[in-house]
Amino acid sequence: MPACTLAALLGSALALGCQGAPAAPATSPSAPSPAQGRALASLAWRALELLPAAAVAPPPARTAPAFEAPQRPGDASFAIGPTNAGALVGPVALPEDLTSLAVRPVTRSRGATHGTRALVALLSKAAQRVAREHPGSVLWVGDLSRAEGGPLPPHRSHTNGRDVDLAFYVSRDGRDGPVPADQPAMVRADASGRIAGSRDLFFDRARNWALVRALLEDPGVVVQWIFVADHLRALLIDHARQVAPPALVARAERVLAQPKDSSPHDDHFHVRIYCGLEERLQGCLDAPPWHPWAPRHEAELARWLDGLLPFLETPREPETREAIERIVRMNATNAIVHLERLVEEPLDAELRLLAHDALGFLRRGYTREAWKRWRAEEAP
Ligand SMILES: [Zn+2]
Repeated sequence: MPACTLAALLGSALALGCQGAPAAPATSPSAPSPAQGRALASLAWRALELLPAAAVAPPPARTAPAFEAPQRPGDASFAIGPTNAGALVGPVALPEDLTSLAVRPVTRSRGATHGTRALVALLSKAAQRVAREHPGSVLWVGDLSRAEGGPLPPHRSHTNGRDVDLAFYVSRDGRDGPVPADQPAMVRADASGRIAGSRDLFFDRARNWALVRALLEDPGVVVQWIFVADHLRALLIDHARQVAPPALVARAERVLAQPKDSSPHDDHFHVRIYCGLEERLQGCLDAPPWHPWAPRHEAELARWLDGLLPFLETPREPETREAIERIVRMNATNAIVHLERLVEEPLDAELRLLAHDALGFLRRGYTREAWKRWRAEEAP
């Protein structure tokens, strides 16, 4: 597949995966107007090439999406699909060299030690922050996802590297105060915080709150949920009101929740993060709710779509095919009407088939099976 055609056409030399493609100057007669091409400047199509910043960093004068610091080729790491039927591309394993973070043996034996780069970085930073604030703390990490994602029994989610189960920080009553007694076992805590079956172990509110705080204050990742039983949520919020600013407590009140449709989570936290923008462009799908501070990427996605639609209005190979593929990856259902118009045009058979497939996908919604059609390329 002649990937990078659009990127080259639009004068982008930014897509690292497109080094073989000639970068036409922006003034090239074949280049679309800046308005058409503003978000396309650095389009690259294969997963390998769609790297944060490397592939999508915009030329300064344009209004393309802004991304975080550049990463190297091979750093591509993203979730595809929703958390209960997704896949993971470019998996990142939990670090092995931190004293503040440990992997539960059962998680290791299941191979459920992989997440998106964003999730693994979030956990590493949070564990280190808690250990700095409370020396001796060890965050015992349970299941994330398998390296390739997909079903991970007995979980319903955990399919695309955006979910993780975490053991509670547990302490022992000591003569001079609580002593960390963190352990790989996921132990149930009652409404007073006592650990079931133990005389002196308890759910350490201060350290568990420190974890929640670290997760919520991470500048690079937005946490959607921290599932935990209502009675433990109450202990955490009570504690937070004494030590944290009201705005942060208000966020915690929205993010901490006992799930209605699964176990009450009285023996561990389940953390889920939202899709980042670059993931969203590759097929990552969030589900509601969106907290008021959550990134919906609507403006950026609209700009990308604006840049793609001209190639549907005036079909030409291979740009139109690439635009259709991107639209599917973005799950841009508001492009359906444009695709419907496209299939009325005189088109070559292959392109018509692709447009029909895209319509079917966008109308019926994401399924793991349907997605396989659209993810022919893999990350390194
Ligand atoms: Zn879980």
